[in-house]
Formats: sequence, C-alpha cells, structure tokens
Amino acid sequence: MIKMKPKSECLICKNPFINKNPGRRPGLTCSIICEGKKRRFTDEQKEESFKRRFFEKIDKKSINECWLWKGFRNKKGYGSLMHTKENGQVQAHRASWMIHYGEIPNGLIIMHSVCDNPPCCNPNHLQLGTIALNQQDMVNKGRQKKGNAGIFGSNSYSAKITEDIALKIIESLKNEKAIRIAKELNVSKYIVYDIKRKKTWKHIKLES
Ligand SMILES: [Zn+2]
Ligand SMILES: [Zn+2]
Repeated sequence: MIKMKPKSECLICKNPFINKNPGRRPGLTCSIICEGKKRRFTDEQKEESFKRRFFEKIDKKSINECWLWKGFRNKKGYGSLMHTKENGQVQAHRASWMIHYGEIPNGLIIMHSVCDNPPCCNPNHLQLGTIALNQQDMVNKGRQKKGNAGIFGSNSYSAKITEDIALKIIESLKNEKAIRIAKELNVSKYIVYDIKRKKTWKHIKLES
C-alpha cells in the first residue's frame, strides 16, 4: 500500500517533488520529461497510478469506520474511477477490493456486507459474494424495496438485481449470448432479455 506524503514521489524517476500548482490535483510525475515517459507506462506503473488515484479520493479512517469515496458518485452513491485506458471505469468499492485483495473472480460481486454503505471503500467492510447471497443480504436487512414500480414497472424482473449486476450484464451483452450470461451470473434469463431490449436499466450507460 502507498503512503501519501505531502511531497510526492515521481512515478517515473522516483525523485521527490512538490506539486507546483497548489489547488490542482497532485501530479504523478515531477517534470515534463517524466510526464512524456508516462505515456509509455508499464503495467506495473499503470497499477501504481491506479492505486494513487484511488487513495487520493478516499477519506481513509480507522479499520472499523467507513472510508468514504470523495470523488464522483452515481445516484446510488457508488463512486467510480478510471482503472486503465484498456479496462475503462471501475466502481470505487470494486477498485478497493482489487487493490487490497487482488482480481475479482469472474461473475462475483463485491458486497458491502458490514456497513451497507455504497460510497464506502473500507476493504474490511467489503465481501466477495454472489448475486444470490447479496439478494439474501438485502432481504435480511429489509432494504429491498417492494415497489421499485414507479421507475421500472412492478413486473420488472430487473428490480431484483443490483446496479453492479446490471452493469455486468450490459458489458457481457457486447460479446456473449443472453442465455449464457444468465447462467453465468445465476439470474433469470428474462432479466438479461429485458436489458438487451433496453426495456430496463436503460438509464445505465457504459463509459467507454
Ligand atoms: Zn520524474
Ligand atoms: Zn463501510
């Protein structure tokens, strides 16, 4: 894990430097020369950059408290940031998992099992889970709303999935068959069909 100091270390040459434009986002490199080399980041440097950008936006507290995301949040309160150019945006709590524990296995989701607080990125509050587990968790916590009706229609199967899953389905639809996605994510095929026909979750857009 990286410790943020007032003086930053240049990601390229490793020399300490002070951000010359106070008020602006702290830079990752010390000079124009190093900034130029940044374009040819190795995979390791890309991960390093990802970590730094993540911790810049985290209000890091004790291990028992919520670490809130200070950057942009969506309507549901989930933060997001750019992972790499190739991988695109990632949700902040998922980023936290990746940084602290490693890659998220295919088809699994990251649950806020301890705090149920969407902007929280404290790795101790996160748990790897399945959709079924998450739904049970929501039921247990009494959070699952009975009539998402106004927005999605009371018959909408998609009222039963989380935004995480919806996003995953939208992404998978680019190159996988609906029926296969339904099986992989263990959701009803009608959920996937509805999303495919843009009947539901059309308010979610993938940043590309
Ligand atoms: Zn440098
Ligand atoms: Zn929390």
